[in-house]
Amino acid sequence: MVNIIDHLIQVFLLRFLCLQMASATATYGQKESSDQNFDYMFKILIIGNSSVGKTSFLFRYADDSFTPAFVSTVGIDFKVKTIYRNDKRIKLQIWDTAGQERYRTITTAYYRGAMGFILMYDITNEESFNAVQDWSTQIKTYSWDNAQVLLVGNKCDMEDERVVSGERGRQLSEHLGFEFFEASAKDNINVKQTFERLVDIICEKMSESLDAGDPAVTGAKQGPQLTEQPAPPHQDCAC
Ligand code: GDP
Ligand code: MG
Repeated sequence: MVNIIDHLIQVFLLRFLCLQMASATATYGQKESSDQNFDYMFKILIIGNSSVGKTSFLFRYADDSFTPAFVSTVGIDFKVKTIYRNDKRIKLQIWDTAGQERYRTITTAYYRGAMGFILMYDITNEESFNAVQDWSTQIKTYSWDNAQVLLVGNKCDMEDERVVSGERGRQLSEHLGFEFFEASAKDNINVKQTFERLVDIICEKMSESLDAGDPAVTGAKQGPQLTEQPAPPHQDCAC
């Protein structure tokens, strides 16, 4: 019975997200037509367990706002922010995903075409740290090979409740081959730095790939469009 209800929820959500994607595409088109003036467009996803602070992190970065209330994210949502980096105007399309297992099939559909990931855990929550390995496997399974990942230990303002040391975070990031930041969406620590570093390593990877004539970047093969004006978000759902 629980399975049937879960299945119905999934179907309903898939339909809901299809509508959301259609409206996102329309909105996106409007945003693009009002601002076509950029050099690169990068799609970035924020992933990690529920309540680690993904939505707060995005709101802090995009709107410089923070709310102590926890409002569970349904499926997936995005915000757009344009920044200047290395003399280039870079438009970021940042997708905020729901961490719960039941949304997993929906959210992994969005991994394709992402150039960067912020993989987040909560330094006061051991379980969220233990889940990092699984999230990393999800990235490897569903994303483009050259996607860049930053590991972020969020809520570093809560030192008294810390259960994951900075050293353990650093060791895990080295093991996984990711760069690492501790951050706080609440106190605005390392939020901007995280996004800017991710943009920089995507740019570094992009110029390496261009130098090497990587077909995914030069356009000979299907892959994320790193150097072109953006295509609308991909609609993966079967509706
Ligand atoms: P999400 O499920 O990963 O999107 O998590 P939310 O962004 O909704 O945050 C979950 C809860 O953690 C909310 O009550 C937030 O106010 C709180 N929170 C998020 N980031 C921080 C942070 O950096 N420090 C503290 N102290 N609380 C945070
Ligand atoms: Mg959320």
